[in-house]
Amino acid sequence: MAESFAAVEIISAKRDKGELTDPQIDWVIDAYTRGVVADEQMSALLMAILLNGMNSREISRWTDAMIRSGERMEWSAVKRTTVDKHSTGGVGDKITLPLAPLVAACGGAVPQLSGRGLGHTGGTLDKLESIPGWRASLSNEEMLKVLQDCGAVICAAGAGLAPADKKLYALRDVTATVEAIPLIASSIMSKKIAEGTSALILDVKTGNGAFMSDPLKARELAKVMVELGERAGVKTRALITAMDVPLGLTAGNALEVRESVEVLAGGGPADVVELTVLLAREMLDAGKITPLMDPADALKNGAAMDHWRRMISAQGGDPDATLPVAKEKTVVTAEASGEIIEMNAMKVGVSAWRLGAGRSRQGEQVQAGAGIEIHVKPGEEIKAGQPLFTLHTDEPARFERALEALTGAVRISSTGEKVERLPLIIEKIEG
Ligand code: URA
Repeated sequence: MAESFAAVEIISAKRDKGELTDPQIDWVIDAYTRGVVADEQMSALLMAILLNGMNSREISRWTDAMIRSGERMEWSAVKRTTVDKHSTGGVGDKITLPLAPLVAACGGAVPQLSGRGLGHTGGTLDKLESIPGWRASLSNEEMLKVLQDCGAVICAAGAGLAPADKKLYALRDVTATVEAIPLIASSIMSKKIAEGTSALILDVKTGNGAFMSDPLKARELAKVMVELGERAGVKTRALITAMDVPLGLTAGNALEVRESVEVLAGGGPADVVELTVLLAREMLDAGKITPLMDPADALKNGAAMDHWRRMISAQGGDPDATLPVAKEKTVVTAEASGEIIEMNAMKVGVSAWRLGAGRSRQGEQVQAGAGIEIHVKPGEEIKAGQPLFTLHTDEPARFERALEALTGAVRISSTGEKVERLPLIIEKIEG
């Protein structure tokens, strides 16, 4: 087949700060997915995009082309309105776990196609896989059945969803081109639009533990993603939320499941409950769903827990099973007395990752029980010698590097200094 373009012309157009045309974008994504454009050519184009950017038409077309590289899910058989959320990821961010069954309990249908963690932030599927028997891979028919029966399904995105993104993401990972806003926005939104949800709430994290630590960059990313969603007919809103301090009191797979179950039982840490309830209200509102009850009530009256139990069981999991516990633990204590002024989310995330909770290469195994329990948060008092963190791992050799990562993670002061924290919700961006 004669090809419509030469990759070199497209690369040089972007290298010279030109705009790519719609046919050029359609062709380069399709040809790369077919293997006609080589990795080295796509690498050069991605770097040119990182350096010179894309305008909103180019980003929108690039996203569309990625969607068209694969299948588009379709939920017309589901009677309820579909609504989903996506988080750009953070330390201790287990919100999807209580949120999906909570929104289901309140009247929405949540088709959540998730990914695995890479680096210091955990992945939803890794967390759920710590529940004995739970299965992340479902056929499209199984997904539909779980969604219809339970009101929510959390599972792995199949190979057919935005295959261009799968190839591009792996290439960006090894060519230092992950950080470009047009590439991040199109990557996330191609999958969420192809997933077929009718409304979407984006939780864009900012602060030292987030992928976008600079709040201005987080805002720009949020705006671009909201625009992409709206253009594709998905009612999209973004909340920019704090990730300067870990969310909740746990970071690590089974530890986070345990905390999520506490939230579903009407307890759990205040910040996790607040963000879960707030996102649930936003999702219901964006989907124009008349709530069957208020999300805060659904956590207290067992309705969300009931949906969680059904959803876990429908995917082979045992909601009553004892969760895995790591073989070894060590406690880190406070060196001084006073108030906790800072707790660096990134350092806690890296430490949990080094304990075995996360992976450094795609395909690596994670430890279900590994991670960190946090005993005291900023704004609380501690006495010298009291526990700050408990570190868990199956391999004690990992403690040394995990402890190293925690160096300087916590600042304690007894001088009446003010705690400096980002507000949990920094900004809301609507389409
Ligand atoms: N998550 C994605 O899915 N894609 C990106 O580019 C970054 C985060």
